[in-house]
Amino acid sequence: MTDESEKPRIGVYVCHCGLNIAGVVDVKRVAEYAKSLPNVVVAKDYRYMCSDPGQDLIADDIKKHDLNRVVVAACSPNMHEATFRNVLEKAGVNPYLVEMANIREHCSWVHREEPEKATEKSKAITAMAVAKAAGLEPLEVKEVEALKKVLVIGGGIAGINAALDLAEMGFKVYLIEKNESIGGRMSQLDKTFPTLDCSTCVLGPKMVEIGRNADVEILTYSEVIQVEGYVGNFRVKVLRKPRYVIPHNCTGCGECADACPIDFPNEWNMKLDVRKAISIPFDYAVPLIYTLHKDHCIECYKCVDACGERRAINFEMEPDEVELEVGAIIVATGYDPYDPTIDREYGYGVYPNVITGLEMERLLSAAGPTGGRITRPSDLEEPKRIAFVQCVGSRSQRRNPYCSRVCCMYSIKQARQLKEKHPDMDVYIFYMDIRAFGKGFEEFYEQAGRDYKVQFVRGRVAEIEENPETHNLIVMAEDTFLGRPVRLEFDMVVLAIALEPNATTEKLSEILRITRSPDGFFQEAHPKLRPVDTLSAGIFIAGTSQGPKDIPDTVAQAKAAAASAAALLSKGKIRIDSVVVSVDEELCTGCAKCVDICPFQALSIDEIAQKAKVIEAKCTGCGSCAATCPVGAMQLKHFKDAQVLAMVDAAIPPQKQ
Ligand code: FAD
Ligand code: SF4
Ligand code: SF4
Repeated sequence: MTDESEKPRIGVYVCHCGLNIAGVVDVKRVAEYAKSLPNVVVAKDYRYMCSDPGQDLIADDIKKHDLNRVVVAACSPNMHEATFRNVLEKAGVNPYLVEMANIREHCSWVHREEPEKATEKSKAITAMAVAKAAGLEPLEVKEVEALKKVLVIGGGIAGINAALDLAEMGFKVYLIEKNESIGGRMSQLDKTFPTLDCSTCVLGPKMVEIGRNADVEILTYSEVIQVEGYVGNFRVKVLRKPRYVIPHNCTGCGECADACPIDFPNEWNMKLDVRKAISIPFDYAVPLIYTLHKDHCIECYKCVDACGERRAINFEMEPDEVELEVGAIIVATGYDPYDPTIDREYGYGVYPNVITGLEMERLLSAAGPTGGRITRPSDLEEPKRIAFVQCVGSRSQRRNPYCSRVCCMYSIKQARQLKEKHPDMDVYIFYMDIRAFGKGFEEFYEQAGRDYKVQFVRGRVAEIEENPETHNLIVMAEDTFLGRPVRLEFDMVVLAIALEPNATTEKLSEILRITRSPDGFFQEAHPKLRPVDTLSAGIFIAGTSQGPKDIPDTVAQAKAAAASAAALLSKGKIRIDSVVVSVDEELCTGCAKCVDICPFQALSIDEIAQKAKVIEAKCTGCGSCAATCPVGAMQLKHFKDAQVLAMVDAAIPPQKQ
């Protein structure tokens, strides 16, 4: 390993990145200039430094020229710093003795019109990196022990798939679900696009499989309330709400529900029918344990009598807390459907025959409130004319600016199902653009118009009015193809509602200390290269908790998150980044300003020494504390004050007095 006291011997490698850099910057001039910089022994340019020959070029030079520092003038460190650290490590040099000079994102990409100035700027950026590299210190490569257990939060199709894959790979999995049963929103769907296979037939067997898997412990009616620790070693507190039914005594016979005199609106059926105060949410619920809803119960105890000797019902049950220890966490908390009551122009909640797409799913389902019969809520008559209104709550500056990605396809799916059941029904879809981007989607859309005679009207619906006598609905829109307003009467209107972040997203982002993107969904660490990672090491995201998506994409992401968690934990040890802060105890006054500012709770004050203490596995190297410490006691390794100031001096040489 290179000793930091050695005189720096720096190699500089200027990358063309094809024409990304070389198309603007004169890379040969930058390399020539680098040769003149202090401590530089060799400087070269090459077409792709990250390619195999590019990496070999550096490794060979390290040996040939006895280099102990390397500067790569190329892309962002986010892209390839890890690549070049590996090159150094394999060549026997401490991996932290490489510095990236970002002449692509910071230069060629933003100065395309000014190649001469871009070349001068690249020279300056390279000089700064060389100055910093001279003062770089080798950092210890550290590892922490990792538990081979994973927590999955959310029991929808994403959480179920991630948990099953991890169990298959030999990990112990805890699956936490806030509702009474796992299954998520997919359990409410009738058929699924684009194959039109029945949702229950796909989801049901997976729910049974996971319910029987000995390596997956399912905790339903439970929520995560605290997470401590760090990657490889998280301590999680889970709150279990009381079901007032003892799980191992309940046989799922349902005799209590038969005896119960109280009904309340059934959320699973979108409140289109009722369930008993003691009941299960749907027939194929997993686990098959009844829940007594105290908010609705009148304490007549008829259920207790019906349950008899099984003694499963216990009115005294209290909430309890469980502590779990896991190495990684996958967040798969899904979405909430947009509530269109706020959009008064559509009359949802006012006109009984305006319903949402999710309500239509329940009406179409044989297990739904009407047994699959399509009826209007106002008079339970079968409608003859139905309109779908697209983009309700999506693609709107007033509501959510994003596209919810599934509404076009689910409306087309429902329209086709309606036409299959009732070929004489008039079915219209009012849309802005049809987004049929997935495999088989365009064909599915084309068939809707061509074979099923679904009418597509291009134009945003401005308003819906009701005829108070018939409860029929007048849809007013502008047909942008014909360039004229349209006014059509329907028996029923279905609003294609947006997918919004789940109501628990904000609270969970605070508990887990993971960030959200401007749309409110959880944010991935990098949209292309780390799509299921978060910026908190060991915490992954999957499914619609990350953003609206359909079931195939949800499952793909869940599998990716499971594979990423497994790759992280499989060796039982995790290498942690050494670019973390350290405290100079001589200087530290114990004021705790750093503790307060740290967004990752990586700092505390040692009670005896009254000095700041760092949990290195939790530190992400963001540097907030180093910038806050009033006495300069906190220093971020690899970005120490002296290293950063050397860069400043290289860019703006100090003035002679
Ligand atoms: P969810 O299904 O939302 O599951 C998330 C789970 O996490 C839920 O069980 C929830 O209770 C739980 N949870 C939430 N917060 C917490 C917490 N804090 N702690 C513990 N548990 C929590 N897609 C298709 O591919 N084909 C279709 O035909 C189709 N039709 C659709 C029709 C409609 C009307 C709608 C609205 C969507 C449709 N979709 C369709 C999209 C589909 O619903 C989603 O892709 C899929 O359900 C996403 O699964 P998920 O696991 O990410 O989220
Ligand atoms: Fe229903 Fe409550 Fe009576 Fe039990 S005690 S039967 S849950 S109302
Ligand atoms: Fe010590 Fe600086 Fe943190 Fe205050 S801010 S506790 S002085 S390290």
